[in-house]
Amino acid sequence: MTRPLRSDAAAEEVARTAAAAPDWAALAAVARPCVACPELAATRQHVVVGDPPAGGRPRFALVGEAPGASEDSTGRPFVGKSGQLLDQLLAEAGLQRAEAAVLNIVKCRPPGNRTPKASEVARCSGWLRRQLELLDPPVVVALGLSSAKWFLGPRTVLAQARGRAHDVDGRAVWATYHPSAAIRFGPRGAPRAGLLADLTTVAGTLA
Ligand code: SF4
Repeated sequence: MTRPLRSDAAAEEVARTAAAAPDWAALAAVARPCVACPELAATRQHVVVGDPPAGGRPRFALVGEAPGASEDSTGRPFVGKSGQLLDQLLAEAGLQRAEAAVLNIVKCRPPGNRTPKASEVARCSGWLRRQLELLDPPVVVALGLSSAKWFLGPRTVLAQARGRAHDVDGRAVWATYHPSAAIRFGPRGAPRAGLLADLTTVAGTLA
């Protein structure tokens, strides 16, 4: 799992602040004004903190990379085209989004949807780590390579990591495609079929 760089005071401040939040509402309140990443803080509209489940402990968590334009403008995770496809595939797999925590590694949209920098991932990790502690999902679905690397390590290869649960801090972590890849490769592409197959497998473990 990605840890804050020891030399990065901003990452350490985020981790300290997040660790002191006693519950989801308190964490969201202190995360929303976060300016630990100057470029992202200057260009974002919202810090997309994430969605907790409708009630109680989540059955599983969905963790993506970072918000896109729709998420940035609404402040909600996975509400754009990727989110719509994710909702569709969750339903086809027999999973309900309302039972999930929906999170991202990085809470602010990178300009032009660029890949988040390592320093941004390191700084934002404190929020995600505390979210996982507070919500305590038994199962995590890591959507895309960035998320898979956050949980499983920087040398993770998605094709090798898929198809089985990885124990990470007592949670079953499943790595799969990001829905944006499923959109990019089209309805007959391998990522869409793979994402649906992986979600169906996860659903089977939750039954
Ligand atoms: S990406 Fe995360 S750490 Fe960086 S400014 Fe946004 S909320 Fe703060």
